[in-house]
Amino acid sequence: MDLLEYQGKQLFARHGLEISEGRAVTTVEDAVAAANELGYPVVVKAQVLVGGRGKAGGVKLAGDEAEAREHATNILGLDIKGHIVHTLWIEKASDIETEYYASVLLDRSAKKPLVMFSLEGGVDIEEVAEKTPEKLIKRNVDPLVGLTKDEALEIVKTAGVPDDVQDGVAGILVALYEVWIEEDATLAEINPLIITPDRKAKALDAKVSLDESALFRHKENAELRYTQGEDEQEKTAREKGITYVALDGDIGILGNGAGLVMSTLDVVAQAGGSPANFLDAGGGSDADKITEATQVILSNPNVKAVLFNIFGGITRCDEVANGLVEAFNRLKPTVPFVVRLDGTNDVAGREILEKAALPNVYPAKTMLGAAEQVVALAKENS
Ligand code: GDP
Ligand code: MN
Repeated sequence: MDLLEYQGKQLFARHGLEISEGRAVTTVEDAVAAANELGYPVVVKAQVLVGGRGKAGGVKLAGDEAEAREHATNILGLDIKGHIVHTLWIEKASDIETEYYASVLLDRSAKKPLVMFSLEGGVDIEEVAEKTPEKLIKRNVDPLVGLTKDEALEIVKTAGVPDDVQDGVAGILVALYEVWIEEDATLAEINPLIITPDRKAKALDAKVSLDESALFRHKENAELRYTQGEDEQEKTAREKGITYVALDGDIGILGNGAGLVMSTLDVVAQAGGSPANFLDAGGGSDADKITEATQVILSNPNVKAVLFNIFGGITRCDEVANGLVEAFNRLKPTVPFVVRLDGTNDVAGREILEKAALPNVYPAKTMLGAAEQVVALAKENS
């Protein structure tokens, strides 16, 4: 789960990192009021879950009220790489002498945390990593010990940070590691980490991703989820505990197991169709689960036909079929459904479907056959 910059900064502050004073606002009037309260100059910053806001015109300095108003007006509603700006962070502007880069993430191959640091901050770090990898210092950390101040100092010295600010920058690295480990983050990044003209080190930006699976340990972080930019259906699905990803085609897809759903998407594409979503019902086969999943799929008005692709292992096809019959009786869908049941108790499952004689339901035996049929039905129905 990605956090907005200002939310990341709030986590940083909890762990003793120095951040600039600021306010999160959603209207031009509140932005101007916040700017007046903070005192000029301020920075007006778009809060969206995507990087490169500066280049896209989403980060602007304002020297007075008129400028604050102008920037807030221009940035609210701005489309940054497909993300519409609904929230602004108004922050007291900092004077920048130098911009560094710092991050902590999980190094899966080393099975250890990884600290990265570079003097080349403020720019696209991927570019630094690609063109001048020697300028990106990387150090694995022993997870049982954590990042010590000595290790952090070694990193900043190796990078070439000037003597007088080494201690400050190393302190930020230690705190950033603490944020990462204690908040169960998968990424904690500061770009830029700045040095001010009075030789202080400070986090000017924050990019934090939290581990969804660990959110139960952090009730207060779970509330930080940013839903304004979220797709309505994805939101409903998440609330119901269903794995759902919206796509832009017209064939609704449901399968059990992520692997099966992915290959279903491929087979539908191979048959000339275009999937409207990815939905993994997991092991859920009862009527409630299937009704909820069907509801989510049908709430997308683009869906012209639906493919249920169930491979029964632990999940039994007869149970799925009963769930489907009940879900259909409750929802009475009007678009055609192709239902492929294979595996445990598939014969019984297909019998249940046939007996129920649901209108608009087409049982299928093979995956490719099912895909071809659903593509044809979607074409007829559009
Ligand atoms: P990003 O483009 O999404 O990574 O947004 P950042 O928060 O990193 O801001 C982009 C750039 O704006 C930074 O690299 C800085 O150069 C500049 N910037 C941000 N805040 C300030 C500030 O307080 N003062 C000054 N002078 N520049 C700032
Ligand atoms: Mn940045």
